[in-house]
Amino acid sequence: MTQEWVTKVIDEIAQFGKRDCGIYREAFSEADDKARNYIIELMKQVGLKVRTDEIGNIIGRLEVGDNKAPAVVTGSHLDTVPGGSKYDGVIGVVGGLAAILRLKERKVTQPLELIVFAAEESSRFMFATMGSKAMIGRSNINSWRKAKDKNDISFVEVMSSRGLDINNIDKAARSKDAIKAFVELHIEQGNTLVSKPAAIGIVDVVAAPTRLKITVDGLANYSGTTPMNIRRDALVSASMIVLAIQEIALEQSYYGTVATVGALKVHPGAINVIPGQVEMWVDIRGVNHSSIIECLQEIKDAVSTVAEGQDTSMSIEMLSSEKPVEMDKEVAKIIENVCDSKGLSYVQMNSGAGHDAMNMAFLAPTGMIFIPSYNDISHCADEYATPNDIETGIQVLTETLFQLAK
Ligand SMILES: [Zn+2]
Repeated sequence: MTQEWVTKVIDEIAQFGKRDCGIYREAFSEADDKARNYIIELMKQVGLKVRTDEIGNIIGRLEVGDNKAPAVVTGSHLDTVPGGSKYDGVIGVVGGLAAILRLKERKVTQPLELIVFAAEESSRFMFATMGSKAMIGRSNINSWRKAKDKNDISFVEVMSSRGLDINNIDKAARSKDAIKAFVELHIEQGNTLVSKPAAIGIVDVVAAPTRLKITVDGLANYSGTTPMNIRRDALVSASMIVLAIQEIALEQSYYGTVATVGALKVHPGAINVIPGQVEMWVDIRGVNHSSIIECLQEIKDAVSTVAEGQDTSMSIEMLSSEKPVEMDKEVAKIIENVCDSKGLSYVQMNSGAGHDAMNMAFLAPTGMIFIPSYNDISHCADEYATPNDIETGIQVLTETLFQLAK
């Protein structure tokens, strides 16, 4: 599977969900389905055995060597954020497939698997890496049952429209015996590699997102006749929270912690009605666990202060709270040796963004390989990786998988 083949497949996948500005393959959307079906067909064509599990993860298996042996696994995702690029996730899927096929002719004793994880991005249901969470048996089923997208379509409905039953999600969990190691190839979502410069990033720690939903309840009333001094405006209170969160995160930024309010729903959302309720979603990330905990505590304090001062009641729902996840030292060492043997420059680095690898680390020794991202931008149409850098990443992935599977 040549570099040209890889470029062609990445370009073809980019057609699914293509918009005027960037790509939108929302998890479980028609565009996502088209990309998924495309890759399923491709995997079958090149000789992989393909199955889909109870949450929609696609698992392609190349049965080589001892088929009962634990598999050496790679993979990533195909869903995107709105206005996403053609590289985030896709490089790990297409590059993973290319790597597995390049190993077909070599002496490999373990089966090889490519996984396309379902719903990695959280932009639809506000939950990230749902597919890999289900695979490690840590699905957040009670919250997922309540999850709805912006069009009020529930996760349960979306599942059943695909012939999947949320009650069966537990069955997607795999045992530790089934997987020997997991390695994910991904474009860096930052500019460390370009600015060093280095060809490869070997990930040390993946920052896990901590997520909250804050609901602010005020009183909806007619904007024309309600005097300013008796208003209980939920959006005014929510705005104070947004500013407080920015302050708090700035203080914690020394530890690399960041916090963002990325989504707000204002009810009833009319120009002539005082907002009666605001739902807001907060995303906190970092690699320093105690800094994240401190950040969280300060946000809770700010919420109660604003609630009291503004006479608007507020509630906080924790959507996810996970510790930063360390990648496996031995897998990292293998990647390092592969880079050395190829004369490639590399750096050890942390990943500020979450990835399926952070979940897979609970099942098997896990590593992540980053390649440079140009334009210093991520989750955006302008994100760019050069074909040569992608090829280098695939070569490192191939050799790493070989070392693990030989
Ligand atoms: Zn990604």
